[in-house]
Amino acid sequence: MLEVRDLVKRFKVKGPGRKLVHAVEGVSFSIPEGETLGLVGESGCGKSTIARSVMRIYEPTSGSVLIDGVDITHLGERELKPVRKRMQMIFQDPYASLNARMKVRDIIAEPLAAHRMGGSRAETDEAVRAMLEHVGLGRQHMNRYPHEFSGGQRQRIGIARALVLKPELLICDEPISALDVSIQAQVVNLLKKIQSENGISYLFIAHDLAMVRYVSHTVGVMYLGRIVEKCESAEIYKRPLHPYTQGLLDSIPSPRPAPHGVEKAASIEGDIPSPISPPPGCAFHTRCRYAKDVCREAIPVLKAVEAGHEVACHLF
Ligand code: SF4
Repeated sequence: MLEVRDLVKRFKVKGPGRKLVHAVEGVSFSIPEGETLGLVGESGCGKSTIARSVMRIYEPTSGSVLIDGVDITHLGERELKPVRKRMQMIFQDPYASLNARMKVRDIIAEPLAAHRMGGSRAETDEAVRAMLEHVGLGRQHMNRYPHEFSGGQRQRIGIARALVLKPELLICDEPISALDVSIQAQVVNLLKKIQSENGISYLFIAHDLAMVRYVSHTVGVMYLGRIVEKCESAEIYKRPLHPYTQGLLDSIPSPRPAPHGVEKAASIEGDIPSPISPPPGCAFHTRCRYAKDVCREAIPVLKAVEAGHEVACHLF
């Protein structure tokens, strides 16, 4: 459904000099129909830039984005419009991503109007009502404003708005990060139910590894603009190979503390370096306890070390 090939996105830094933010550096992945790729990593690792580049909110610096085998990277606005209908986005902040001055009915109907798919007012009302019910809300919510809803309900409205065009690809950019923990599971279960009913493909971006495990078929771990490990969801949690992935997994709090005398593996120390001047060689070498000379000089390439398990590390 979606294929991203060697995507690069750099931003110019305002001010003197010709500094660049290296947000995404040569990322490739694909998502089959009806499956979910989870992208995880710390803030600033380039996850959201990938999402926005796929949606063509950002123009990629180089590389390509293909939908169903069609390269959309350089399509103009007019050619892009029918493609946009096929891929929609759910945003992180359900408070900022809904227009506070619009009623729920108009928020959900807006994409239909933009793509001239609404029909008569009664038909649009019916489409909005059906979509609200699909996400666990109802007709009685149509004439209310976003401020009258809880965070979880607002995110359901955002999901309804994204689904009303019947997209084939949904980009979920940290859709649960701003929600209470008790609500996160509800929204994730809703997304899973929608996928099983409609066969939609998801690019699911999050920094919560536990939640990504639950929703994803495949997981890609990102560090400073690159994917450093990618494999089936179950495999990455069972046998993480990259030192960064191991550190991320070790940092998940456990409900069962290690028995007395058993030492927990060390989690990652220090901060993610600036994407304006990423470290040479492996960008993780400044925080990696296994770093050796070659790590400071050569960028490790993402390659399959076992069937379906790709890692970018000089240890492999
Ligand atoms: Fe650590 Fe070297 Fe592997 Fe990078 S390439 S993760 S620094 S061992």
